[in-house]
Amino acid sequence: MTVAVHLENVYKIYNNVPVVNDLSFTINTGEMFGLLGPNGAGKSTTIRMLTTLTKPTQGRIDVSGYNVVSQSILAKQHIGVVLQQITVDDDLTVWENMELHGRLHHIANPGRQRLIHQWLEYVELATKRNDLVKTLSGGMKRRLQIARALLHQPQILFLDEPTVGLDPQTRRRLWEIIRDLNKQGMTMLLTTHYMDEVEYLCDAFGAGKPGRIGIMDSGRLISLGTLQELRSAHGEGLVMKQTGDRWEYLFFPTLEDANLYLNQQNDKTGMMVRPSNLEDIFVELTGRKLD
Ligand code: ADP
Repeated sequence: MTVAVHLENVYKIYNNVPVVNDLSFTINTGEMFGLLGPNGAGKSTTIRMLTTLTKPTQGRIDVSGYNVVSQSILAKQHIGVVLQQITVDDDLTVWENMELHGRLHHIANPGRQRLIHQWLEYVELATKRNDLVKTLSGGMKRRLQIARALLHQPQILFLDEPTVGLDPQTRRRLWEIIRDLNKQGMTMLLTTHYMDEVEYLCDAFGAGKPGRIGIMDSGRLISLGTLQELRSAHGEGLVMKQTGDRWEYLFFPTLEDANLYLNQQNDKTGMMVRPSNLEDIFVELTGRKLD
């Protein structure tokens, strides 16, 4: 198994505050990796370091086998980036945006024209090729960002909060694209604060193989594994107990263990059993809900 992304004891310090704090993890080639955490956890800063946009204060990062500080140009050539902000040029057409990116990456013709066409077809924007970007919907702009990020045939695609602000149908469409690219072998790292996004994209069955989820909070990686691994580690069975207006959560290794506990209680008022989910684990780890 080859390594696509490697972080070793990485810190990013702003005004004496470590916003990324001793981060270490590895992503294998072809893996889907979801970095989940609340706003301010340090996810964007991590993606900005991985994509050479800002340097780590301390620690080592390699992407595609290249050091992001000492070999940043080589690293950049092998990665595609879709940032949270819309970064396509509103005053250019769809095609012109692709053309500009292709030329910046020195992709020669006729290959450039062929690739632009191929990726616009892939994200279903070929019929919009002559439209000005400012006339596109938010979802179309996001799809154009993805097409552009793929143009120079990167090995790893980084997506920072790819579906933030999009309607449910458009989110689903983007999820399909992201999952399909991963199925084709693309290594993906995406950040999100949506539970359902990582649950869907890192699902064991949808993508053929389970993706891994890294949970980040206050700059630290506090848990890492497939959804099944996280559930096994924290408990697959949950007893919810209502006391006044508060819910107490009790984790058990299995659903059967949770049921057994419930059955042993004389007073079962306000108690229920269900399988644990990612949100339960997140709350257990951080003591907070995600917004
Ligand atoms: P997330 O993407 O998880 O929401 P960010 O990486 O954007 O988190 O931010 C993590 C923390 O770092 C926040 O508290 C943010 O205010 C701070 N931060 C991010 N960029 C800068 C910067 N350029 N200067 C100072 N503080 C920053």
